[in-house]
Amino acid sequence: MLSIKTPLIQSLVLSQINQCQVWLKMEALQPAASFKQRSISYACQKYFEQGAQRFVSSSGGNAGLAVAYTGRQLGVPVTVVVPETTAQRARELIAQQGAEVIVHGASWGEANALAQSLLTQNDVFIHPFDDPLLWEGIIPMIDEVIAEGVIPDAVVLSVGGGSLLSGVVAGLNKHGLGHVPVYAVETQDTASLNASMMAKQHIELDCVSGIATTLAAKKVCQNAFELSQQFDVHSRIVSDQEAVNACLKFVDDHRLLVEPACGATLSVLYDQKIQFKLSDQVLVIVCGGAGITLETLQGFNG
Ligand SMILES: *Cc1c(COP(=O)(O)O)cnc(C)c1O
Repeated sequence: MLSIKTPLIQSLVLSQINQCQVWLKMEALQPAASFKQRSISYACQKYFEQGAQRFVSSSGGNAGLAVAYTGRQLGVPVTVVVPETTAQRARELIAQQGAEVIVHGASWGEANALAQSLLTQNDVFIHPFDDPLLWEGIIPMIDEVIAEGVIPDAVVLSVGGGSLLSGVVAGLNKHGLGHVPVYAVETQDTASLNASMMAKQHIELDCVSGIATTLAAKKVCQNAFELSQQFDVHSRIVSDQEAVNACLKFVDDHRLLVEPACGATLSVLYDQKIQFKLSDQVLVIVCGGAGITLETLQGFNG
């Protein structure tokens, strides 16, 4: 099983706080703990059908984990090159899936350069967010929501490099829902989509930082920027602390641990940062994330 159909549940607590109907799409329950299971496994499957004999990734995060998981399912070897800064836990999770983990360089740039240099003819490099196949793989997430009879009046999701935004907008479009507002949430120091939207130009940030490392793309993919100009996309920025607080509340309310990258989206609902109408059906993508333990989360809580 590459990716699974995830539950769609109503959050009573978030519905009450926001005075509307809040629906949670539980992507955190994918086997590799995030929506990347959908995007990456779909792309890997396609490349496998085209003859790929090895998948190479340079992500120490949920993308690398999803590549490792998919490679194991398909019986395709996986190599993941990560920088020395990658947490021990992330390395272990990737290695646990049977992938080869190579630790190289002080930054992601160096690890990525080595990953690229390792590519031979039948290897495929799997990008974490910038590949139309990844976006296509996310469309079924929206198909599932519609099939359950929920027609969203708004969608709230997190943005890192913009594959989730790209896939969700493609899914909405497919169902004639291209007019539905999408709230794109970033943390303060990873707000590359926000910067491009403000500048009305596809720009790159000098640096990104903070605890939502999964959202730390200096530049969103071109497609995500274009969608922000063509569709009803609204940017929201939250602090690291707000993201962490939301994760802690979510553990108590829904008994599910997610990364601050996902907590960012949840905090918009917990802190009522959007005005909804009583009749609104609000779809919240609970994107998940494996790079978190309860202990680290509590440690962030300064
Ligand atoms: C990758 C990821 C994101 C960001 O997705 P993009 O497609 O890069 O915008 C958010 N949350 C989690 C848990 C992720 O793994």
